[in-house]
Amino acid sequence: MSAGFVADLELAGRRVLVVGGGPAALAPVTALLQAHALVTVVASEPGTTVADLADRALLDVVPGLDGLDLAGAALVVPATGDAAQDRAAASLAAAQGVLAVRPAADPAAARPEGGEVVLVGGGPGDPGLLTVAGLEAVRTADVLVCDRLAPLAVLQQVRPGAEVIDVAKIPRGAFTSQERINELLVEHGRAGRRVVRLKGGDNFVFGRGGEEWQACAAAGVPVRVIPGVSSAIAGPALAGIPLTHRQLTQGFTVVSGHLPPGDPGSTLDWPALARAGTTLVVLMGVATLGAITTELVDAGLAAATPAATVADAGLPSQRVVRGTVADIAARTTEAGLRPPAITVIGAVAGFRP
Ligand code: SAH
Repeated sequence: MSAGFVADLELAGRRVLVVGGGPAALAPVTALLQAHALVTVVASEPGTTVADLADRALLDVVPGLDGLDLAGAALVVPATGDAAQDRAAASLAAAQGVLAVRPAADPAAARPEGGEVVLVGGGPGDPGLLTVAGLEAVRTADVLVCDRLAPLAVLQQVRPGAEVIDVAKIPRGAFTSQERINELLVEHGRAGRRVVRLKGGDNFVFGRGGEEWQACAAAGVPVRVIPGVSSAIAGPALAGIPLTHRQLTQGFTVVSGHLPPGDPGSTLDWPALARAGTTLVVLMGVATLGAITTELVDAGLAAATPAATVADAGLPSQRVVRGTVADIAARTTEAGLRPPAITVIGAVAGFRP
């Protein structure tokens, strides 16, 4: 459902019940958390994103409405994705004298032609860093297939009746397989819908956008690409680190730290990276940072080389830890930084304006 109502209400510190913990609840939940409401999600089986928010103590989850006293609630938001269930939740609220958001109308019937898949790069998480073209695609989409790192707050702007599908892949947690995601894009595209594949950063930077494009092309579904602001570039910038600087370095290299040096699946030449003289940006490297930095120093990178880790770049929870290549792994762990985070290694990480 659309969550535009949040903008017009003063909800900070007020208890709000969102009925439904699936994809239809993502927009209101995200908007309500941003508005500093105290959110309780009513869902027997919350989806991965809501479960993750509950794990991080950002909201409460209760299993069902039965016997629930709504007295302390300022507002009830029906968001089950099912029109009949939403109406039932709104009626229950009305019976207890609690204000409820009017349930969305039944989803609009799919249009028979004109289907396409738009790969939209959402930027690092701050809705302000989604491009104007990306926002327009989100607003006009029939179906949105979203990841956890996408700027979910913009889902407030989807049109009524648009379907939001949450395919969150939480590290070591529940996930939808890439094959299933490809199938979803193809199925909805073929059915004539305007499908937005909304990802964090840029879809082609460790985003599997290439595979999704190939799957759609093989099925004859047209694809459009709207590039996004990659966290590889936005993360350092938001931490005040210029990736290049005339006096310091003439380039930067972006790598995945998912597989540590020495892993049989790794194709990176870490000693070459240690010698390259460019800024090194490591994505997906929180767990492997110790192995990576040890390898770089062993390969000759000066131990005093500045380094910084930026977590949750562009989000209110953004944190930056600075150090050197020799101690950044330990400092990152000590500070309790968790993914998503990037690490910048190179002279620019010591930049002071
Ligand atoms: N396509 C994305 C990257 C996907 S891989 C992009 O272009 O940004 C996921 C990794 O991206 C995370 O493990 C983390 O290293 C990085 N990342 C994504 N969003 C981030 C953010 N807001 N802050 C810091 N790192 C982020």
